[in-house]
Amino acid sequence: MEVVADEAGVLPMMVIMGQDATDEDIQHLVDKVKSVGLDVHVSKGQFKTVIGLLGDTRKARELPLSAFQGVEKVVPILKPFKLVSREFKREDTIVKVGDIAVGGNSFVVIAGPCAVENEEQLLDIARFVKKAGVSMLRGGAFKPRSSPYSFQGLGEEGLKILEMARAETGLPVVTEVMDAGDIELVTKYADVLQIGARNMQNFLLLKEIGQLQKPVLLKRGLSATIEELLMAAEYIVSGGNSQVILCERGIRTFETYTRNTLDLSAVALVKNLSHLPIIVDPSHGAGRWELTEPLSIASMAVGAHGVMVEVHPTPEDSLSDGDQSLKYDSFQTLMQNLRKTGEVFKKEI
Ligand code: PEP
Ligand code: MN
Repeated sequence: MEVVADEAGVLPMMVIMGQDATDEDIQHLVDKVKSVGLDVHVSKGQFKTVIGLLGDTRKARELPLSAFQGVEKVVPILKPFKLVSREFKREDTIVKVGDIAVGGNSFVVIAGPCAVENEEQLLDIARFVKKAGVSMLRGGAFKPRSSPYSFQGLGEEGLKILEMARAETGLPVVTEVMDAGDIELVTKYADVLQIGARNMQNFLLLKEIGQLQKPVLLKRGLSATIEELLMAAEYIVSGGNSQVILCERGIRTFETYTRNTLDLSAVALVKNLSHLPIIVDPSHGAGRWELTEPLSIASMAVGAHGVMVEVHPTPEDSLSDGDQSLKYDSFQTLMQNLRKTGEVFKKEI
């Protein structure tokens, strides 16, 4: 295998410690690596420990890494993402949201309105989706709208309504944080912090969220490559927060019949490239409510760990994304058909 450095001549690398390596061996190596100005990320498995070298790994050339006691292998990483890569961690990461596990063999359904519009609307939807058997409730209080004249969300009032819905139904809440200045506020109310497509490369936001110990739903940017999505996740994980759920939500293409083009190949590929869980948002992916069900079924078939779907009792009155919101009866059908499909793919909903 030919190993290439990036433009700066930096060769990312990791050190695999063998089964016999002691804690002292690991610590000795970590100390030495740190002494040349690099940082480390240590991942302890049942049998092996993987030490990722972070920073300008050219500095590691000063160290004969293979000569250290307990080192089994020194592996250069060809991909620019490291901590989120399968090479770094073979087993699927399971992100726990309360009792709910996202990743591995589970299939979660997250449902709710595009935006929290008022107490009555949100509580009605929350009760309905709870009865339908979903795992989590979604709803935006801070809305990234293309037009400054569109409904921008209820802000903290919306968060308080989400909290009421959680208190009544027990459903964990997924809601978007748009601005680094709102992180503290949104974190108080959210069980999962959503980073929207438009903010996928807001690096300041990613870094700040990386400092938290809180599950994150990171949505793919409108025109982001898969590598850019994984690099965005790398920002969060390298900050110390490894609880990242990726979300494919469609990308911009020349096609106009759909709002976006849902890239299901990204799901299959990300599962090879990364250990992080990945879910699909078919509502924003296609922008048409009638495509939500077939695309949700397809998401399960392609190996996604769940879907996030927009639901509204009266989409025609919705303050945002009515065109792509499922009415209650269609949502119920979707749940039934997902359960049936789950029998084939051994996924429990
Ligand atoms: C959303 O899920 O509420 C949303 C705005 O989606 P996206 O960021 O993917 O456009
Ligand atoms: Mn929406």
